[in-house]
Amino acid sequence: MYDYLIKNALIIDGTGAEAYQADVAVSEGKILDICSGESAAARRVFEANGMILAPGFIDLHSHSDLGLILSPFEPNKISQGVTTEVGGNCGFSLFPVTPEGRPAVQQLMRAYGAEMEIPWSDGRGYYAALKQRGFGVNYLPLVGHGLLRLNAMGASAAEVSTTQLKAMENLLTAELEAGAWGFSTGLAYMPGCFAGFEELKALAAVTARYGGVYTSHIRNQGNDLLSSVDEAIALAETTGVSVIISHLKAYGVSNWGKVEAALEKIVAARTKGYKVMADFYPYDSSESTLMYEMPEWAKAGGVEGLIRRLNDQQEREKVRQEIESRGELSWDRVVVSGVKNEAHSGLIGRSITQIAQDAGPDREPFEVVTELLKGEQGGVSTICRLMSEADVDEIAVAGVTALGSDSYALPEGQLFTGHPRNWGAFPHFYDTYVQKKKLLKPEQAVYKMSGMAADFLGLSDRGKIKPGYWADLVLFDPESIAGPASFTAPDTPSTGIDMVMVNGVVQYEHTKLQREPSGEILLKSKES
Ligand SMILES: [Zn+2]
Repeated sequence: MYDYLIKNALIIDGTGAEAYQADVAVSEGKILDICSGESAAARRVFEANGMILAPGFIDLHSHSDLGLILSPFEPNKISQGVTTEVGGNCGFSLFPVTPEGRPAVQQLMRAYGAEMEIPWSDGRGYYAALKQRGFGVNYLPLVGHGLLRLNAMGASAAEVSTTQLKAMENLLTAELEAGAWGFSTGLAYMPGCFAGFEELKALAAVTARYGGVYTSHIRNQGNDLLSSVDEAIALAETTGVSVIISHLKAYGVSNWGKVEAALEKIVAARTKGYKVMADFYPYDSSESTLMYEMPEWAKAGGVEGLIRRLNDQQEREKVRQEIESRGELSWDRVVVSGVKNEAHSGLIGRSITQIAQDAGPDREPFEVVTELLKGEQGGVSTICRLMSEADVDEIAVAGVTALGSDSYALPEGQLFTGHPRNWGAFPHFYDTYVQKKKLLKPEQAVYKMSGMAADFLGLSDRGKIKPGYWADLVLFDPESIAGPASFTAPDTPSTGIDMVMVNGVVQYEHTKLQREPSGEILLKSKES
């Protein structure tokens, strides 16, 4: 007898192949059989009635590393049909933390609004902490380059020394040995922005030896988008590492249209035999921080360094001139979405320009920016309406892109004022590109949410509906699937997701979360 039988489903198997009608049998966590007509009895039968059964969605770009500790069952993710997330992106993971690096790591966490003291020192310790609590969705770890650098040299903006680089390589090697799938950079963030090409190349070479992946929040997504894409591709070319360019976009009105050339560069690299792709989220606004918009040199020494410069009239003027001369930013398109200081909570939802106007006729947007950065110790989140819909469409339908929400596990029971992708990215993508714009076939959309990521990463037993694969499954209604979360109501749950199974455990059904510890930490085996 099977554990579960999902009857009369329209199977989209995650390979891109055409949908077909069948029953799927699940036992002991795995897909046992795909059959039609008479099949054996099951402890429980789901009548799919023509709904689509797809592989559970793989979130190729996630930031749930801390959220998983605080909110291990991730209602905002599982309710979208996500069954696996790739964590540790944009240069930020929660390990390793060496005794020497700990103060710098904790300071960076505080800048992101996280007060937690990290009790572990490496990936193994983090995985053990997750397992001890239990969690809902599979987690696939990457090592953040930012952590490697903080451990080796603190928040210093200096070029890495030979000894420091060796220390970074050793830390990365130890994590790859322990099962991490590769490393990530946040080259627009501290401390990633201080890293030069040779530093990245050394770490990419270590990763390539393990058959791992390098995910890159590239140096610049605006004026220098194309040279930044070149840099990521050059790492694939010089080391053989697999590269995923993170949340591909063209940032700033003056840069709209550049995604075409960026996509062409990726296609050209693949034609030459390099493993390169990009992930994206299906919205034309990004979520970031005010600090992110500051010039690199102004961030040397971390938040303290930035605030010191903003307090100095000459330095502040230099920062202002540099931002203005870049021309990517329009302060009327930058909206405050999160603050720590209660006194600033009334600013949430308002653009920097609006805040300046409210404060009086002589008030300039840049003054608002500096005062907010100082008053919040750097920790101001923003929503930036700086992408074009046409660019997002082009990226969404490209053959070299897969979905990554760029979101995190949200703490339950708390007011949430951030980006709608946190609750809606996957259903919103399907609804927008299959149902509304009709730019993708259901099979193509599902491939971009499952099999494509699995193939690229080398996940050989997930991301597809095949006998012997783990039973990570999502059953959804193609008519009603949608992600109604919006910038004004970002915590609106998705619709149309009927049932989600993780490792053969029914974790989410008819909007109800089971809170079973069904998630696994997916470690990379050294042979693959
Ligand atoms: Zn990023």
